[in-house]
Amino acid sequence: MMIDYDVKEHLHQVLDTLPQGVRLVAISKYHPNEYIEAAYAEGQRIFGESHEQELRLKHASLPKDIEWHFIGHLQTNKVKYIAPYVSMIEAVDSLRLLREINRQAERCGRVVKVLLELHIAEEATKYGLTLDDCRQLLADGEWRQMEHVRICGLMMMASNVGDQAQIRREMLTARDFFSEVKAAYFAHDDAFCERSWGMSDDYLIAVETGSTMVRIGTSIFGPRVY
Ligand SMILES: *Cc1c(COP(=O)(O)O)cnc(C)c1O
Repeated sequence: MMIDYDVKEHLHQVLDTLPQGVRLVAISKYHPNEYIEAAYAEGQRIFGESHEQELRLKHASLPKDIEWHFIGHLQTNKVKYIAPYVSMIEAVDSLRLLREINRQAERCGRVVKVLLELHIAEEATKYGLTLDDCRQLLADGEWRQMEHVRICGLMMMASNVGDQAQIRREMLTARDFFSEVKAAYFAHDDAFCERSWGMSDDYLIAVETGSTMVRIGTSIFGPRVY
């Protein structure tokens, strides 16, 4: 298949705007392997997918040093398929899912990195933990016994709106909440350091509001064909 989109050019345009310390997760969902290979050839190694089956096929046929992030809503019955190879599961939105990731990671002798997904946006997603749910999950403490997951930080999606001030407010809420949780539970855990926010339309605001990991698809690979 021919690539009819200049992935290389667009990838570098994005990378050039990211300050040091902000990593790029190239969101490749719905895009063919050739697009991923074009970014890989430029040194990109972290890619994000949101469907288990699509990820399975891509993982099987693409270079093994790619770090795959699962960024979508993950059903517990799908965890077993990605646990053997996934690098990070970004959108953990329940204790039940966290338990299942721990269970499946243990079965394959791995430690899977995860982020807790916050629901702060007004309407962008119906998934994610409210701040109080997240406080509750951490206060419960069951996660401390889970040796096969490592909670590395927080993830969120801002509202899909044109109002930049609202997007900024939501991201600042996430940043403040990160500080709260870091101080309360992870003050001595260097692994808890990731703030995953920012997509094609709002990643510059995300960088300004302390994101460490932006998840960008369209600006690199062009529009998705569903
Ligand atoms: C699709 C998706 C992205 C990337 O969105 P773009 O607007 O294409 O950059 C980021 N995060 C999540 C959770 C997504 O599902």
